[in-house]
Amino acid sequence: MSAPHPRIPFNRSVTLGAELDYIREALDSGQISGDQTFSKKCQKLLEQTLQTPRALVTTSCTHALEIAALLLNIKPEDEVIVPSFTFVSTATAFALRGARIVFADIRPDTLNLDETRLTERISPRTRLIVPVHYAGVGCEMDSILAIADQHGVPVVEDNAHGLFGKYRGRWLGTMGALGTQSFHETKNITCGEGGALLLNDQALAERAEIIREKGTNRARFFRGQVDKYSWVDIGSSYVISDVLAAFLYGQLEKWPWIQKRRSELWGRYQSILQSWSRENLVHQPFVPEHCDQAWHMYYLLMPSLEIRQAFIQHLKQRGILAVFHYLPLHLSEYASRWRTTDSFDCPIAQNISDRIVRLPFFNSMSNDQQDEVLEAVMSFQCQPSETREPAN
Ligand SMILES: *Cc1c(COP(=O)(O)O)cnc(C)c1O
Repeated sequence: MSAPHPRIPFNRSVTLGAELDYIREALDSGQISGDQTFSKKCQKLLEQTLQTPRALVTTSCTHALEIAALLLNIKPEDEVIVPSFTFVSTATAFALRGARIVFADIRPDTLNLDETRLTERISPRTRLIVPVHYAGVGCEMDSILAIADQHGVPVVEDNAHGLFGKYRGRWLGTMGALGTQSFHETKNITCGEGGALLLNDQALAERAEIIREKGTNRARFFRGQVDKYSWVDIGSSYVISDVLAAFLYGQLEKWPWIQKRRSELWGRYQSILQSWSRENLVHQPFVPEHCDQAWHMYYLLMPSLEIRQAFIQHLKQRGILAVFHYLPLHLSEYASRWRTTDSFDCPIAQNISDRIVRLPFFNSMSNDQQDEVLEAVMSFQCQPSETREPAN
């Protein structure tokens, strides 16, 4: 069963600068719980760069979404709209509070929540909309925010892919009331497991601190605003150790280099594969002109599931690991409990899920490694049905 170890992995995390020095510094300080020097440095960097009033580092993006669910008082029977084509956390953080998840279909070009069909999913019970900036390309936030506003519901941006990307000049993750970030190993910037919550609405900041600290006002205590800290609300343990924050800061401070290197790799894939893609009826990613993407992934849309599988196999035989992506959440086993309404279809999500393939793409990837991938990709012929011998 075990596949040969790929020569070129799909993803590989490496240290890029001072990560290990900072971990040593955190250890030497004798203070490695949360909210110490390096957590604060990470938060400050995010706040200053993204120009958002408050950023809190968390144990994961999933946990940042859980804080959002608590903060917005999501309750049983509330409806939360999420795209079907996303990671399970976008939905499960709200399902955990008993919410009913309403799945929206995606656009066939950007693979983002289809804002033109969003209104169809809104009901009197809608309490929240959670767009995901897929691959770090911005959703049509002007429309999404306008629709949300019209119905009086907040927007939480699941910006796990989109840190440092922009939509019409605005940072992704800063347009909704809240934005969530992931520093999981598969993301552009990582500490293995970690996340952040962007509090774009200042009014939510104080309660967010409380929820993140087990429902206590410990943050106010540390600021000297109260003389003891106590239990004041519900909450959980979402604070990240400063050992991890130290690693994270070593990566975060390198963000301009990381994004630049990824943009170069992405650009090479896009330009070198152009004619091969056209000849083989493969679709390359589409990035609207008004979006500065975050260079999170490089994917291709193959003509069919069958061809996609053969393509992954073809690369595997050449020592290259390419992978598919999300299975549509609306078809998941857990979502079957809600599969009663007639407006439950997400045909684009289903179609894309069958056809998408992601190529190796990581910060330390060399041009030589990428050339090897490119060569292997272009040695594959799709033989779309139009060019096959007619069967008789
Ligand atoms: C990675 C990811 C998450 C979860 O991130 P964690 O930090 O692993 O919890 C959530 N949403 C999307 C879209 C993701 O890609």
